[in-house]
Amino acid sequence: MRAFKARMKYGHCTLFMNSSVRLRFAPSPTGFFHIGSARTALFNWLYARHTGGTFVLRIEDTDLARNTPEALHVLYAGMRWLGLDWDEGPEVGGPYGPYFQSERGDIYKDYLEILRKTGRVYDQDGAVYFKVSGEVQVITDLIRGRVERLEEKDFVIFRSDGTPVFHFVNVVDDIAMKITHVVRGEDHLSNTSKHQELFKAFGAPVPEFAHLPLILKTDGPGKMSKRDRGSLVEEYINRHFLPEAVVNYLCLLGWSPKENREILPIKTIVDLFELTAINKNNAHFDAQKLVFMNAEYTRALPLEDLVARVKPVLTEAGLLEGYADGYLKEVLAIAQEKMRGIEELPVNLKSFFSDDFEYDAAAKEKVFKKGDPKARLHELKGAFALLREFNEESLEIAVKALAEEHGVSTGEYIHPARLAVSGMGIGPSFYGLLRVIGRDRVLKRIDDFIQVM
Ligand code: GLU
Repeated sequence: MRAFKARMKYGHCTLFMNSSVRLRFAPSPTGFFHIGSARTALFNWLYARHTGGTFVLRIEDTDLARNTPEALHVLYAGMRWLGLDWDEGPEVGGPYGPYFQSERGDIYKDYLEILRKTGRVYDQDGAVYFKVSGEVQVITDLIRGRVERLEEKDFVIFRSDGTPVFHFVNVVDDIAMKITHVVRGEDHLSNTSKHQELFKAFGAPVPEFAHLPLILKTDGPGKMSKRDRGSLVEEYINRHFLPEAVVNYLCLLGWSPKENREILPIKTIVDLFELTAINKNNAHFDAQKLVFMNAEYTRALPLEDLVARVKPVLTEAGLLEGYADGYLKEVLAIAQEKMRGIEELPVNLKSFFSDDFEYDAAAKEKVFKKGDPKARLHELKGAFALLREFNEESLEIAVKALAEEHGVSTGEYIHPARLAVSGMGIGPSFYGLLRVIGRDRVLKRIDDFIQVM
């Protein structure tokens, strides 16, 4: 049923109807949702949706000190913001729960008993050791290809304080939850031989492995860490990025569609996504490219959708009081084509909603340098006051007529007037700006500006 729902939702044509493919994202809550973790979650989700399989969220919270409600909230909120819905896991349930490792103690004990019965463990100094097989482990990673490794030393699976070790719980849960594909960061590749030993010791099928390339800092060779700017999903939520832009960007960190297209709707990515197409080279996080993508997405949003997303942001900035939705829509209709993101709007659009705005210093300097802006503004005022209609067409005709009459370029009117009306040197189309601000406010602002010249 779930697989069928996933299929309907994304409208695939190439999918198995009742896929047994099961993937999991298995984060340890840290209080941060790192871009690298988000990419891991996303690639698991993409493949689950691509195959019509199941996406499980499992919380690896054996380190109870970090297991706080806030840490979990950051994770759930981040995943939901990105649209990574899970089919089984916390808050959703499912047949293989509980989905918190901290609640699975009895299951781990039962699994330990299996290894005791088959003679694969022994106790030493209070800890429980797993006896390695002595066989070379050949891992056929879907991304890295064939990797061979011999585990030479027996390793601890239960510490002397009775708590199970990561390798053990990770594998037990993958077996118990019937995980078919383990997709995780390359930093775990070195654990995989231990894990494969454990799968075999339990007589369980070894899942497919896919180890994702590292994400490196924007500049420099190091791995992105949570201290790097732009490395946390929270930051993009707070900066009002569009989640679909962030998701699209994250998809390209290690994966790309064959035709090298970059901006793709998620539905298309789900259709095209293959684990085997993931690049094994490390990916560089390019903050500027993400900003660029966010701008593209913002400018491409249907107007109604843009209004809905901008409204809470401008409301929070205290700008919308007394303004109807229709006015906001008119503002966005002219401002959208030059937008770089919603983040900048409380500042850039302030003059549409408030008379209390500053004049941009650099724009002011530029305007004062050229011609006689004061005279031009006086002429504009006169002409604007006489117009029968105050719209793009009539305004443009009036400005052109003035320019001709006084033998100057239209820019000598447009630049000081834009600054007077909006406080800025750049922005939406000039005539649209005047129309939306409206004649009374335009005339008043030109007057105010003349006072400070
Ligand atoms: N809890 C581990 C991590 O966050 C999971 C590793 C895995 O996906 O197998 O790195």
